[in-house]
Amino acid sequence: MEAFINPGTGRPDTGPVTGLPQRRTGRGNLAGLTRPSRSDFRALSRLDGRARVDDLISGYRRFREVAWPERKQLFERLAARGQKPETLVIACSDSRVDPQMIFDAGPGQMFVVRNVANLVPPFLPDTNYHGTSAAIEFAVRVLKVRDVIVMGHAQCGGVHALLEGAPPGAEDFVAGWMKIAEPARLMAEDASLPIDQRQRFCEQCCVKLSLANLAGFPWVAERISAGELQLHGAYFGVATGQLELLDDDGTFKAV
Ligand SMILES: [Zn+2]
Repeated sequence: MEAFINPGTGRPDTGPVTGLPQRRTGRGNLAGLTRPSRSDFRALSRLDGRARVDDLISGYRRFREVAWPERKQLFERLAARGQKPETLVIACSDSRVDPQMIFDAGPGQMFVVRNVANLVPPFLPDTNYHGTSAAIEFAVRVLKVRDVIVMGHAQCGGVHALLEGAPPGAEDFVAGWMKIAEPARLMAEDASLPIDQRQRFCEQCCVKLSLANLAGFPWVAERISAGELQLHGAYFGVATGQLELLDDDGTFKAV
């Protein structure tokens, strides 16, 4: 693995962005936690003229009819015994890169963290909100996963924002979050690659950077030293459906 210098400027992680209208009930900040109503969803759906949530509810009904009966016992077992996944996957939030689909995995098999550009921030335990680091801590120290896969992907919007600047309307958090990957941007710049290769190179550098940051978490390093944890890099081609794994020589090779 190539060595990266941590930028040393941790950024607070952000939670999932739902875009759902928040309802006010006069109970201060807790009001934002109120579950959106069905009419909220419908109002949101009308914004672009598509029945998005209705499609998802139809999918849920298919799940209940087909998948649930087949997996009922598995879910009941998981509910009774608790989860014991062996693998943590850190992937991008991109809607085209679904770890469960790519690895053909079922419930209970993988603990998954998804964020913009599958980034692991440096280890910086402070008072900021570190969603990704919290999930890593839970997976490694509580669930005691034995493998961590950081999976990057082609056409990553986060990496595009890193290279070309955040798109309008995404300056509040995306640009700041992507500063974690500044060393990867510099490496891509130094590589003097043609524009069509630069993005892929930077996406793969982000995977290596995340692995390096991960190894900087003291309790991750301890478990690696004890032979109890292994880190892996992966890269998914959206157009090809092909998965590549990071080899010891620093290159990604098709599985
Ligand atoms: Zn992405």
